[in-house]
Amino acid sequence: MKKILFLIGCVIIAVFGCEAAKVNGADSCMKVVAYVTSWSEEMPDPKFMTHINYAFGHVNESFDGVRIDNPVRLSRIARLKKVKPELKVLLSVGGWGSGRFSEMAADPVLRGRFAADCRRVADEYGLDGIDIDWEYPGSNAAGISASEADPGNFVKLLAAIRDAIGPERLLTIASSAWGTGCRFSEILPYVDFINIMTYDMAQAPSLHNALYSSGRQGGMSAEKGVAIHLGGGVPASKFVLGIPFYGRGASPYQNFVDYKDVALKPGCTEGWDDVAKTPYIADKSGSVVLGFENPKSIGYKCDFIVQRGLGGAMYWDYAGDNAGSELREAVARGMGMDLSEPTYPADYAGAPRFKALIYYNDQAEPAHVDFAKDAIDFFHRLSYGDGYRYDVTTSLADYPYDRLKGYDLIVAINASPVADKERKAFEEYMENGGGWIGFHAAAYNDANTGWDWYNRFLGAGKFYCNTWPPQPALADVELREHPVTKNLPQSFVLPECEWYQWQPDPRLTPGVEVLLSLSPANYPLGIKDVVKSGDFPVVWTNTRYRMIYLNIGHGDREFTDAAQNLLLVNAFRWIAASSASSSL
Ligand code: ZN
Repeated sequence: MKKILFLIGCVIIAVFGCEAAKVNGADSCMKVVAYVTSWSEEMPDPKFMTHINYAFGHVNESFDGVRIDNPVRLSRIARLKKVKPELKVLLSVGGWGSGRFSEMAADPVLRGRFAADCRRVADEYGLDGIDIDWEYPGSNAAGISASEADPGNFVKLLAAIRDAIGPERLLTIASSAWGTGCRFSEILPYVDFINIMTYDMAQAPSLHNALYSSGRQGGMSAEKGVAIHLGGGVPASKFVLGIPFYGRGASPYQNFVDYKDVALKPGCTEGWDDVAKTPYIADKSGSVVLGFENPKSIGYKCDFIVQRGLGGAMYWDYAGDNAGSELREAVARGMGMDLSEPTYPADYAGAPRFKALIYYNDQAEPAHVDFAKDAIDFFHRLSYGDGYRYDVTTSLADYPYDRLKGYDLIVAINASPVADKERKAFEEYMENGGGWIGFHAAAYNDANTGWDWYNRFLGAGKFYCNTWPPQPALADVELREHPVTKNLPQSFVLPECEWYQWQPDPRLTPGVEVLLSLSPANYPLGIKDVVKSGDFPVVWTNTRYRMIYLNIGHGDREFTDAAQNLLLVNAFRWIAASSASSSL
């Protein structure tokens, strides 16, 4: 059954997924696999590739899971799928010098846990698959552990990962040009394709990336590497040819030079090896001091890929190219991709889903300032991975309506506007579809406040009284079907607060929906200011506005209860999602 599903998936991909990446006569998708690193800040333009391998994850310190470099960036990269749904995003685990594979793969328990964690990571980040870059099984050249059993254990590891991630997700590996440690015919049942790292095959004065053997090449060439890989009887379409977006140099050049930084140095000349089909820079004596790749050499490699029936091209790495995208474009065109699609704006994946203004008073009574500090941290954590964007302010003096309307909602932690100008701006904002989530003291308004509109907005009368001292209380959900309460327990204990009452009671205001209130089981409530009965609405919304009020927010122990935290997230999300400009 799984196999049938898998086949159907392939057919669907063939029909809808790769029109753009078909090369004359080729009957399958040509892959363009771009490595994108954790340390680059550039957002890749997805029109240039079919696959992104995010580099890197690693086998973790306990040998039983995945540790990801810069996970926030991985989230952003994975969200490129929103603008190009057919784009595949994989996490590459490994890289040069990334170890612990040998120990992990040798132990069935660790191997199984690692495979399960690959599944977790794929689920958590919405990835299309996992790429394993163990460099290399059975080799300690990169300063990592190795054993003779590695090649066999590598096959078992790939089997375990395939089992864990299922047939629909991608599993790929990177192999050296020599195929070090890879038993291709045994690996094949578990992987979708194999990226051959046909670079770093030599160092200057030899060319590190020659397509064909020539006098300037070190012994290994891309053509020879492919022949080694095909020797095991694996179909050519399972292999993807690697192309470096960097050169390997010797004095006066550095060992590694990104293509964007390649420039002629004094006394050097650029040449072209017409046998190796590779450009180079030579010094006065004619010795190669930099072997690199350019659009011309990429053209030859792409022709080679098509002629030999390989599966596509891979490159390391996206950010090595220049601002004109010369190399990315050469690879994409060579693989038959249609580049007439628009280039996506550079910050599209970082575009926030919505924008919030967090507003608080840092001169309020200490318990309300304590709450504000914790609340800012709470809302900050919700923004991880570009969840949303926010600004924090202790005053609305510099927020006229024109500025306020740039926010999907205001988070009023412990304050409300005081100056007339601020009040007018806030009124205009709310009357024109603005969003507001307010806590505890944000709704403190007594006879001295003198702001009638605010009472109408809150749907409540003047502040009447509160319990004292602050203490926890049992709350009951009143409106079960509401998005803010539907996943909450029917009753739960709220962390300590001083509980407010208003007069008249907001419950009596037409348009107000009370979602949560204190349970009658609490009475008597308080020690000094004791309340023996009465209505204490805790969460309500005045449905005439995009607002929700929560009488929560006294002291520094407010974010200690899971149910209450969930309530806060629900309320925040509910207001944000109803904004016209939010993409929630
Ligand atoms: Zn208070």
